[in-house]
Amino acid sequence: MQMTDIKADFLARVDAARDDLVALTRDLIRIPTLNPPGDCYREICELLDRRLTASGFETEFIRATGAPGDCDRYPRWNIVATRTGGGPGDCVHFNSHTDVVDVGAGWTVDPFAADVRDGRIYGRGACDMKGGLAASIIAAECLIAAWPDHPGRIEISGTADEESGGYGGVAHLAGMGRFSPARVQHVIIPEPLNKDRVCLGHRGVWWAEVETHGHIAHGSMPFLGDCAVRHMGALLAEMEAELFPALAEKRTAMPVVPPQARQSTLNINSLHGGQAEPDAEAGGYPSPVVPDSCRMVIDRRFLVEEDLSEVKAEFRALLDRLTAARPGFSYSLRDLHEVIPTMTDRQAPVVGAVADGVADIIGHAPEYVVSPGTYDQKHIDRIGRLKDCIAYGPGILDLAHQPDEWIGIQDMVDSAKVMGLALMRLLPGAAPDQGRQTGNQTEGMV
Ligand SMILES: [Zn+2]
Repeated sequence: MQMTDIKADFLARVDAARDDLVALTRDLIRIPTLNPPGDCYREICELLDRRLTASGFETEFIRATGAPGDCDRYPRWNIVATRTGGGPGDCVHFNSHTDVVDVGAGWTVDPFAADVRDGRIYGRGACDMKGGLAASIIAAECLIAAWPDHPGRIEISGTADEESGGYGGVAHLAGMGRFSPARVQHVIIPEPLNKDRVCLGHRGVWWAEVETHGHIAHGSMPFLGDCAVRHMGALLAEMEAELFPALAEKRTAMPVVPPQARQSTLNINSLHGGQAEPDAEAGGYPSPVVPDSCRMVIDRRFLVEEDLSEVKAEFRALLDRLTAARPGFSYSLRDLHEVIPTMTDRQAPVVGAVADGVADIIGHAPEYVVSPGTYDQKHIDRIGRLKDCIAYGPGILDLAHQPDEWIGIQDMVDSAKVMGLALMRLLPGAAPDQGRQTGNQTEGMV
C-alpha cells in the first residue's frame, strides 16, 4: 500500500470515528478524577485498559507508590499502553494526565455529566485534558487500522497528578526510565494549546517563602514590640518600587502566550502575619499582641534567558538592602519549589512532524508558543532527559480550570488527524545516514 493510500484511509477513518470520539471523551469526563485528593485513578486506568487492549495495545498499570498523596485510599495509578508495529522504527509516545482540578463555583451544567451541546462537550476536564487524551487514542487507533504493519512503536499513557506537580505520574514514570531517549524518541502531550499551535515548552518557576521576624508585645503598647507585619509592608513597598518594574523590563525571546507573560513575573501567592483569624463559627476574639512573624509565599516565573541563581540573588538583594536600611528588619527565606524553563528546538523532529500535520489539516502553518505555566514536559526533559517533546492538543487553554469548561468536537477531530499524520512521519524513524536526533534543545539552556 502507498503512503498516500494509508493517509487517505486514515483520514476517512477519523471522520467515521467522530461519534466514537465523542462517546470516549464523555466516558472519560464522567469519571471524576478530582485532584486533590486524587480520586478514581484506578477507574480511569481500567477504562483506558479495556479500550486500548481491544485496539491491540499491551497495557501496564503502574502505581507511584510513595509519591506525595499516594495512599491506599487514593492510590496514584498510571497506565502505559504500547503497540509494537511490524518493523523497526521510532517510539512515539502520547502522554495525557487523567486528573482534573476542583469543580469550583459558577457552573450552569453538571460538571461530570459530559453534556453535548452546539458541537461542544461540557465538563470538568473536557479541555484539560480528557478531550486531548481521547483525540490521541482515536488518532492511534485509526492509524493502526489504516497501517496495521506500521514500523516502530506507539505508546499512550494516562498519568496522575499533573495538576499537583506530576510526582505521582510522569515524574514517577520518568524516574523508572520510561522516558529515556533509548526507549522513547518523541513525545506529544495533548494539553489544550489549540489545534493550530505547537507548544515548545514553558517558563521556569521559583516558589519561596519569606518570613519577617518581629518581637511579641501587648497590642496596647506596640512600641514595646516590633511588628513583623510592618516589616513585611516595607518589603512589599520595596517590591513595588524596585522589583516589579525591574521584572517588567526582563523580556524574553520565548513566544509565551498570552504575550503579557513574555517577561518575568511574580505573584504573591499568600500573605499572613500575626495570629490566625478568629474562626467565624466558633466566635471569640483574638488576643492583643504585636505580630512577631509574617510570612509570604512568592511565585516567581522566570525566563530561559535567566539563571535560577540570579533570580534568587535578585530577591535576596532586596531583602539585604532592607536589612541594612531598616532598623530591626530580619528575615528568613526558604525555597519551596523550582522548575527550570524548557523549550524544544523548532528544528526538532516532533515539531516538524506536527507542524506539517497542522499545515495539511488546518491549512496554515502553526503558531509556535510557550506556556506561561509548567506542565509535565518538565519531568520528561529533566528526569527523562528526552528533548523531543511538545504539547499539542485540542481545546482553548483559557477554559482550563474554569466553570463550564468545554471542548469543541470538530477541534478534537482535526487534532486527531494532525496527531495521526505526525505518527506517519515519526514512526519510520530517521534514515540511517541522518542519525537519530534526540538532543535538540535551545543553545545555552539547562
Ligand atoms: Zn492539563
